[in-house]
Amino acid sequence: MPTVALDALAATGTSLMGTSHRQAPVRHFVGSVRERLDALFSLPDGYEVVLGNGGSTAFFDAATFGLIETRSQHLMHGEFTSKFVKAVTAAPFLAEPSVRTSETNTHPRLVAEAGVDAYAWAHNETSTGVMVPVQRVADADAGALMLVDATSGAGGLPVDIAQSDVYYFAPQKTFAADGGLWIALMSPAAIERVGRVRGGGRWIPAFFDLQTAIDNSRKDQTYNTPSLASLFLMDQQLAWMLDHGGLDAAVSRTADSAARLYGWAETSDFATPYVPDPAERSNTIATIDMVGGVEASTISAALRENGVVDVDGYRGLGRNQLRIATFPAIDPDDISALTGCIDYVVANS
Ligand SMILES: *Cc1c(COP(=O)(O)O)cnc(C)c1O
Repeated sequence: MPTVALDALAATGTSLMGTSHRQAPVRHFVGSVRERLDALFSLPDGYEVVLGNGGSTAFFDAATFGLIETRSQHLMHGEFTSKFVKAVTAAPFLAEPSVRTSETNTHPRLVAEAGVDAYAWAHNETSTGVMVPVQRVADADAGALMLVDATSGAGGLPVDIAQSDVYYFAPQKTFAADGGLWIALMSPAAIERVGRVRGGGRWIPAFFDLQTAIDNSRKDQTYNTPSLASLFLMDQQLAWMLDHGGLDAAVSRTADSAARLYGWAETSDFATPYVPDPAERSNTIATIDMVGGVEASTISAALRENGVVDVDGYRGLGRNQLRIATFPAIDPDDISALTGCIDYVVANS
C-alpha cells in the first residue's frame, strides 16, 4: 500500500473517520470513486459504477441472487473461480451450472450453450496466476450476460469494458487500498436483468439485493455503512493512476514488472514460470515454481525475516512455488530488487 496514501489518510485527523455514511464526507468519496472509475475504464454509455459491502466474495452471492436468471456457465480453474461455482451450485432456485474445468496452470474456454443466460469467469485467477481475456462469448443466447471477476486484474490488465456486462472487483488488490467493499461496473443489460429477476418474485436477502445497491450507488451511498478508510485509500490510488497515464500506463507498468519476473525465472536455474503458455501468464500475479532442490518456503521465510512479505504460493495449490503480486502500485524496480534478493538468498542458504 503506498505510504503516501496512508499518510494522507492519517492527515484527515478527526474530519473524516466516524462521520455518518449519509453525510457529505462519505458521499463525497463514494461519488469521487465512482467518477474516477468511470474515467479510468472509459465506461461506455449507460454503464454504471455500483458499490456495496462485503467484498468480492459477497458479490458472488449477490450475483447468484440477482444476476443469474436460470443457468450459468463458469470457467473453474482455481480457488476463486471455484468459490463462485459453489455459491451458484448451492442456490435452490438455479439450474445446475455448466462448469468448464482445466489444469490449474492454464484455463478452460467458454463455449456458447443454449439456455445459459450468464457466463462467468475471472480476468485473473489469483490462486494460480492465470489470466483470461475479457471477450463476449460469440453465439451466446441473446441477452446472456458476461460476468467477470476482476478482483486481482482490474486496473492492471487490459480491458474493453464493453466486452463485459459486470466487471467486478474489490479495492485491496490491484487498487492498493483496503478490503470490505465490492465494486461492479454494470452494463444497461445487467441493470435490466437485476430489475427483472427481482420483479420475478425471487426471495433476495436485502444485503445481497443488487437493486438496492444500484439505487444507493446512484445517490453516492451504500446500503449500509462502508469502510471509509477503504473508500479514501481507493480514491487516492485512483487519483494516482489517473495522474500517471490512466489504464494504459497502469497496464504497461504491470507488464513491465511481470516481464522482469518471468524473464528472470526463464533464465534462472532454480526457478521457472508455473504457467507454460506466455499468453496465459498473468501480468498482475506471477507464479514461479522452484526446482532443483530449492525450497520456496526457505526463500519466503528468509525474505520475511528481512521485511519482504507475502510471496508465498497459494496453499491450496500445494506447490513448491512463489506467488508475487505485480500490481500497478508496485514499482517495477522493486520487482528487480526482489529477484536480486531471491538470488542472494538461494546463493547463501
Ligand atoms: C481476492 C479475490 C476474491 C475475494 O475477494 P474478497 O474481497 O476478499 O472477498 C475473489 N475473486 C478473486 C479473483 C480474488 O482474487
